[in-house]
Amino acid sequence: MDARQLKQHCDIGIIGGSLAGLAFARLLQAQLPQCTISVLDDTQNAPAGKTLIIEQAAADCLQQFAALPANSKAIQQVRISLAGIQRNIGRNVEGQQPLGYSISQPLVQLALKKDLPLHNARVAALHPTAEGVTIHTNDNSTLHARYLVIACPLPLLPPPFRSRRLAYQQSIFSLQANSDLPLHTAYQHFSYRKVMVLVPRAEDDATGVILCVPHATSGDINALSDSALSTYLSDKFKLSINVSGKRFAYHPQLLRTTPLASDNIALIGSGASTLHPIGAQAISLGIADAQVLAKLFIQHTGTPPQAALQQYHRQRVFAHRRKALLTSTLALGAFGAGGLL
Ligand SMILES: Cc1cc2nc3c(=O)[nH]c(=O)nc-3n(C[C@H](O)[C@H](O)[C@H](O)COP(=O)(O)OP(=O)(O)OC[C@H]3O[C@@H](n4cnc5c(N)ncnc54)[C@H](O)[C@@H]3O)c2cc1C
Repeated sequence: MDARQLKQHCDIGIIGGSLAGLAFARLLQAQLPQCTISVLDDTQNAPAGKTLIIEQAAADCLQQFAALPANSKAIQQVRISLAGIQRNIGRNVEGQQPLGYSISQPLVQLALKKDLPLHNARVAALHPTAEGVTIHTNDNSTLHARYLVIACPLPLLPPPFRSRRLAYQQSIFSLQANSDLPLHTAYQHFSYRKVMVLVPRAEDDATGVILCVPHATSGDINALSDSALSTYLSDKFKLSINVSGKRFAYHPQLLRTTPLASDNIALIGSGASTLHPIGAQAISLGIADAQVLAKLFIQHTGTPPQAALQQYHRQRVFAHRRKALLTSTLALGAFGAGGLL
C-alpha cells in the first residue's frame, strides 16, 4: 500500500515493521480488534537476509501467529546461550544449553505481516500534540496517532527522550558458507584471534558466519576472494568452510534511549536499544518489549493509557540496561580495542 493511502487518524501508530513492531501489532490486533493501528515501515531500506537466533520465549510468542514455519529447514533448534558465552570466552566450544532457534527473519516477517495495515513510508518528522502524535513521512503524507510505538532507531525523537551512542571499533561481517557443521549446532568461537559465531542458516542448508574484525581491517577482509577467505576461516576454525554469495558488513554500536516511554510514545526493540550481536539477545529483547506493552495496553483498556506507558518503562528499563551492559561488556572484553585478527 502506498503512503498516500494512509488513513489520517489511528489509535496506535507503529514505526518500524521488523520483528518487534510486527509482533506488537499482531498482539494488539488479536486482543483489541476495535483498536485502529497503522504500521509504517521504510521497506526499501530495511536490512535483509539475516539469519537470527531467538530464545524460546520469543519463539513461543511468534508461534501463536504461526510465524515460525513448520518446515524444518526454515527453523532449526540451536544450542547457544549468553551464559555459555560468558563461561567460555577464550575457548572454542559448542554451546551447552539448548536454548534457542535459528530463524529466517524474512520468512517470519512475511508471516507476521499477514492482514496487518502496513504502509511503505519513511518517517521524516514527529510532532507530539495534546491529542497524540503527528507523523510526517518523506512523501508529505501525514498520520495522526493517539499513541505511537517506535520500533526502529529514530534520530528525530522529541523530548523527553535522550539517546546515548557507543560505537565499537569493530566491523561485523555476515557471510554465507557451506561447512561440515552438524545440523542444529551453533559454534561459538570467542577469543582474540577467532571468528565470533557460526550458525546453521534456517532458510537453507548453508551456514551463517558472523565474523568480527577490527574496523581498520574490514576493507582488507572484504577485498579477499571467496577462496582466500574460505582458506583463512577454515584454518581458524579447523572446519571446512566455503564462503560464497553476498557479504554484508556493518559497524555495530550500542544505542540506548531513555526513558522508554513518554505520555504518548513508547520505544520497543531497536527503538529503545540497539545491541552488539554477541549473544544474540536483541530480537528476544524486542519481542519481550512488544509482549509487555501489548499486555499493559490491554489491561488498561478504559483507563488513561499513560499509566500503561509509565508501567511499561518501569517494567522494561532494567532488562534493556542489563542486556546492553552484558553484551557490550562481552564485546569489549572478548574483542577489546585491538580486535580479532
Ligand atoms: C548480521 C546480523 C546478525 C544478527 N543476528 C542476530 C541474532 O542472531 N539474534 C538477535 O536477537 N539479533 C540479531 N541481530 C540484531 C537484530 O537483527 C536486530 O536487533 C533486530 O532486527 C531488531 O529488530 P527490531 O524489530 O527491533 O527493529 P529493526 O530490525 O531494527 O527494524 C527496524 C525497521 O524500521 C524500519 N525503519 C527504520 N527507520 C525508519 C523510518 N525513519 N521510517 C519508517 N521505517 C523505518 C526499517 O525499515 C526496519 O524494517 C543481528 C543483526 C545483524 C545485522
